[in-house]
Amino acid sequence: MGIPISVLILENDSNSVFDLVREMKANGLSPLYKVVETFQSWEATVHEEDWDAIICSTREPFHSEIPVYLQYLNDKKIDIPVILLSDPEDFSKNLSYMKSGVNDLIDRKNLLRLTEVLERERRELVYRKEKNTTETFLYQSLKEIQLQKFALDQANIVSITDANGIITYVNEAFSKATGYTVSELIGQNHRILKSADKTKEDWTKIWESIQKGKVWRGEIRNIKKDGSDYWADTTIVPFTGQDGSVFQYIAIHHDITDRKLAEQQLTHDAFYDNLTGLPNRALFLARIEQKIFAYNSKNTGYPILFCINIDNFKRINHSLGNEAGDQILVIFAERLKQFSDSDAIITRLGADNFSILLTHLLAIDEGVNYALRLLERLGDPIPLGGYEIYLTASCGISAFGLGGKDADVLLRNAEIAMFHAKSQKVGTVSVFNQAMQEKIHFQLEIQNDLKKALNHNEIFVYYQPILDIKENKIGHWEALVRWRHPQRGMVSPAEFIPLAEDSGLIVPITRFVLEQAANVIEEVQIKQGLPISIAVNLSPQVFFDQNIFHWIVDLHNRRGIPYTSLQVEITESLAMKNLTETVPILSNLIDIGVKVALDDFGTGFSSLSYLEKLPLSIVKIDKSFLSNVEEGSKESFLLISIINMAHDLGYSVVAEGVEEVEQLELLKSYECDKIQGYWLSKPIASEEVIPFIHQFYSKQEKQ
Ligand code: C2E
Ligand code: CA
Ligand code: CA
Repeated sequence: MGIPISVLILENDSNSVFDLVREMKANGLSPLYKVVETFQSWEATVHEEDWDAIICSTREPFHSEIPVYLQYLNDKKIDIPVILLSDPEDFSKNLSYMKSGVNDLIDRKNLLRLTEVLERERRELVYRKEKNTTETFLYQSLKEIQLQKFALDQANIVSITDANGIITYVNEAFSKATGYTVSELIGQNHRILKSADKTKEDWTKIWESIQKGKVWRGEIRNIKKDGSDYWADTTIVPFTGQDGSVFQYIAIHHDITDRKLAEQQLTHDAFYDNLTGLPNRALFLARIEQKIFAYNSKNTGYPILFCINIDNFKRINHSLGNEAGDQILVIFAERLKQFSDSDAIITRLGADNFSILLTHLLAIDEGVNYALRLLERLGDPIPLGGYEIYLTASCGISAFGLGGKDADVLLRNAEIAMFHAKSQKVGTVSVFNQAMQEKIHFQLEIQNDLKKALNHNEIFVYYQPILDIKENKIGHWEALVRWRHPQRGMVSPAEFIPLAEDSGLIVPITRFVLEQAANVIEEVQIKQGLPISIAVNLSPQVFFDQNIFHWIVDLHNRRGIPYTSLQVEITESLAMKNLTETVPILSNLIDIGVKVALDDFGTGFSSLSYLEKLPLSIVKIDKSFLSNVEEGSKESFLLISIINMAHDLGYSVVAEGVEEVEQLELLKSYECDKIQGYWLSKPIASEEVIPFIHQFYSKQEKQ
C-alpha cells in the first residue's frame, strides 16, 4: 500500500487519466481519485471530499473554463492546490496561469514531476491549514489578552515589530531561516532582510494598509545573512490599542523557497535555450515586440534584425559527432555575445540558427557593415579536440518597415534573407527584399511539387555520349536527370537538384537514376552486346549519408550489372569536404571496378594537389574552363598542365561543354582523352541511345 492521496481529475481523455494514475502508483502513492468532465459535476464533487489536489487538463473544453474554476474556489474559500496538465507545445502559453492562482503546471508527455509536485502541494496545504488555525487563534487570543511574547506554533516563523517597524521579538525558526541570531535581529528594522523583490512603492502601499489595521498577506523574497535568498509566504497582523492606532505588528512567515525555485526553473526552461543559455524564439519575439512598440511611440531605436546560420553545420554533426556540434554552438553563442554591443538581444532560434536584434544603428548600411564584421569574427578558427575547425556563417538582415512591421514578419524576413545569402554564396550577407520572398515562395512550391514528381512519373533520365577522341569510340555516357513539371514544363536540374538536396529527395532520385541507367546497360550491353558504361552524378547527401558502395553491389547482385559498366561523378567541393571519409569510399569503388570521375574540375578550388590525394579514374574539366581557352593563352597553359598532371597520375581526362570543332581540335593537340558536349550530342532519351551508337559508327565507316 502506498501513501494515500485524494485527487480530483478534470479530464476527458481516459488514456491521460490512466497515465496519471499509473505514474502516482509507480511512485509510492495510493490515489483515491474521481474523474469529472463538466463544471456541474465538478462543482458537486469538489465538496464531497477533502481533496489533496485538483488536476485539470488544459485542453478544451476545460481550457476556457479554468478561470471559472479558479474563481469558484476563491469565492468559496476552498483551498485545494490546482495543477494543470498541459500539452508540451502549449507549455509557455499556459505558464501565465501560474500567476492567476494555479499551483503548478505539468507536461502531460512527461509526468516525472507529478509525484514530487503532489507531495509538495500537500505539504504546503497542511502548513497553510495549520497556519490559518494559528493565525486565527493568535489574532483572537492576542486581542483578548494583549499578550506580547507568545509561544507560537513551531511550524511558523514569527516576528513582532513595534509601531515603527523595529523588531522586538523573533522566534528560533525565524533566526534559523534568516541566518541571523536572535540578538542580531532584535532592535533592527525589518529592512535588514532587504526584501529583494519589492520596490519602495510596494512597501509604502503595504505600510499604508497595515497602519490602517488591515491584515496583509503576500509573498516576500528576503535575503539571508549569507546573501542567499529565501521566499516567505507572509501574513502581517496589525494590533490596535484602545485609541485605534497600531502599536505592534506580528508577522507570520512560511518558507516557500522550494516551490519558488521550482517555478523559476520552469519559467527559465520555457524561455531560454538549455544549451547556450540564450533566450529562445518565444522570448525573442516578445522582445522584438517591445522594441517595435518603443520605436513606434518614440521614433528612436530603429529595430534591425540579423539571422545567422552556420554553413554546413549538418556535416559537422555528422563527421565530428553531436557532442562536438554542441560545443561549437556554445562557442558561437559566446562569440555572438562578446561581439555584440550591450543593447543587443541575442537568441538561439533552434539548431544552428541564431538571431540578433539591434536598436542602436541608424540605417541598413550600418547593419551590413556590422554583419560583415560579425561574420569575420565567427570565421576565426575554433579549437576543438586538438584540431582547429574553420567554419563560416551566413547572415540575413531585415529591419522595421522593410517588408513588415510585426515581430514574426521581421524575423521571417531575416530568415528568408539568410537563406538567400546561402543560396548565393555561403559566408555572405543579404538584406531582405520583396523579390527574395517571391523566390522562396516559388522554391517552396517547386519543392512541394518535387515530392510528388517521382510517383507521378515526371522524373526521367537523359544520357549524353562521351567521345574517346584518341580511339574514336563511344562507350561512355553520363546520366542526367530530367523533370517534366505538369504546369511549368521542363525544370532544369540546376534548379531542382539543390532543392532535392535540401529536402533529402535527392536520395530516392539518385536511386531512380541508377536503376534507369541499369536498364540502359541491360538493353545496350547485355542484350545488344555493345559495350557501355554510364556515369551517375552523386550529391554529398548521397555520397556521405547513404552507403553508395552497397547500392552498387546490390545493383550488381540483383540485376547482374557489371561493375565496369558503372561510373560515379563527384564534385571537387564534395571530395574536399572530408578527405578522411572520402578516400576509403572512393578506393572501395575503384577496387571493385567502378570508375570515379572528378566533375566540374576548374570551377572550385581546382587545387592540383587534391588530384594527387584522391583515388580517381577520370578528371572532367568544366565547360566554363573551355570557353576562354585560346591557343597560346594563359588558360591554355593551365589546361595543358592539368591534362599532363592527370596523365602522370594515371587518370584520363574528359573535357566538358565542347560545342565547336575548333575546341575539339585544340583539345586533341593537348592530348585530352575524351570530350562531351553539344558538338557531339545533347543529352538524349534512353530509346535514342542505341540508334545514336549505330549512326555514329555507320558515319565513321562511310568516312
Ligand atoms: P554536370 O554534371 O556538369 O552535367 C553537365 C551539364 O552540362 C548538363 O546539364 C549537360 O546538359 C550540360 N552540357 C553538356 N554539353 C554541353 C555543351 O556543349 N554546352 C553547354 N552549355 N552545356 C552542356 P544539365 O543536364 O542541365 O545538368 C546540370 C547539372 O545538374 C549537372 O551538371 C549536375 O551537376 C546536375 N545533375 C544532373 N543530373 C543529376 C543527377 O542525377 N544527380 C545529381 N546529383 N546531379 C545531377
Ligand atoms: Ca556530371
Ligand atoms: Ca560537369
